[in-house]
Amino acid sequence: MTKARALAEVRKYFEEGHFRGDLARRVAYRSVSGADANDADLLPYYAEVLEPDLTAMGFSCRTIDNPVPGVSPFLFAERVENPDFVTMLTYGHGDVVPGMDEQWDAGLSPWQLVDRNDAWYGRGVADNKGQHLVNLTALREVIKARNGKLGFNVKALFELGEERSSPGLRQVCRQHADILSADVFIASDGPRVSKEQPTMFLGSRGSAIFELTCSLRSGALHSGNWGGIMKNPAVVLSGAISSLVDGKGRIQVAGLLPPPIPFPVRDALSKLKIDSESLGRKIDEDWGDPTLSAAERLLGWNSLEVLTLKAGNPEKPANAIPPAASAFLQLRFVVGTAWESIEEVVRQHLDQAGYTDVQVRLLRGSPATRLDPASPWVEWANEAFRSVSVREPAVVPNLGGTVPNDAFSDILGLPTIWIPHSYPGCKQHAPNEHLPLAIAAQGLAIMTSVFWELGEPAARLARTRQQASA
Ligand SMILES: [Zn+2]
Repeated sequence: MTKARALAEVRKYFEEGHFRGDLARRVAYRSVSGADANDADLLPYYAEVLEPDLTAMGFSCRTIDNPVPGVSPFLFAERVENPDFVTMLTYGHGDVVPGMDEQWDAGLSPWQLVDRNDAWYGRGVADNKGQHLVNLTALREVIKARNGKLGFNVKALFELGEERSSPGLRQVCRQHADILSADVFIASDGPRVSKEQPTMFLGSRGSAIFELTCSLRSGALHSGNWGGIMKNPAVVLSGAISSLVDGKGRIQVAGLLPPPIPFPVRDALSKLKIDSESLGRKIDEDWGDPTLSAAERLLGWNSLEVLTLKAGNPEKPANAIPPAASAFLQLRFVVGTAWESIEEVVRQHLDQAGYTDVQVRLLRGSPATRLDPASPWVEWANEAFRSVSVREPAVVPNLGGTVPNDAFSDILGLPTIWIPHSYPGCKQHAPNEHLPLAIAAQGLAIMTSVFWELGEPAARLARTRQQASA
């Protein structure tokens, strides 16, 4: 059997409609996670879908209890051929966001796969059922093409709580670091940089959400009787916010910025086409640091957003100085940002700027991650892409949004490569979620090539070189 044969078989599987059938069956599971999620809706996705598939491929499966009470367990599957072989850890999530059934276009439904405009519509086709189905299908075809011998070991971790921020994932990786140990992490989630552009991303930006409040008195004051001699919390808060990020989206505090963009990252970003055309929406050229390109502003730098602003009653403005004002802000940040000390950094800045009346409180955060684009594994993956794709893959140092990559890169210490089978317009988390057939077909070819090459000597060389550079 040859790689060409494996690629032909996977194409045949797709063209004969089997992949579509597999996807339709998965979409029908209403595996919605959330605060009031029920294991009865979620666990069948393991028991009836993943476990039978994985077992048939020679995996041994077991569940790992979630250390966070009330959240579904993890599914761990392992297929070891030889302890000396390269070991890949992969990941996927079987939970989805709510269906929003009423809001889909006529004739579409979140729980029934529908073909329209050369795409498949249904909840989870992009996030994440379709993506891990592509990977498991490719893996199965490579196993077959190699007569049952992959030439590498596979470990797979699945969860049912990703859409509620992966509770317990980090603890499980810490507690079970031994059984999850591997040489490389390869998984799929999130979007490509554009519909046509095969992509790999190597980490994700982090996120820190903090609240600013200015609460000066218990009741409102008449603006005619008191305006001019009493502080207005809304004005104070606006001033404080604009001292952090100005009206052009430029962060004003050095402690909220990353170190200069490293050369390999800058180089990788310079090769990406990130503009109004590739994103399908006109981007604001006069927003953010004018010395940075759009790719650098989106993926190589930090951005500070105001998520909410609250003061007075906008539905019914009164002639009054509101007693309090508050805002939620979010810092999206790249590797190297001292986000854990964000509360102190903002506090110190506000004190120095004279905003001692404004309180700051960090609510939650997740770290940024990024594999060095110069890693031997990236070079190896590039080769695997090149041999099946007409286009050079886009290498994105980190996703602009967030995947729980720190569990794998920081806690397990793995080189992480994400290969997305979706695109920015896929409507994940919204009505009309869809997966273009072309992306699914191309994803199957790419992953078949990746899994084929993982059993070849070049992968062992990448492992040796990565270990030497670590
Ligand atoms: Zn999601």
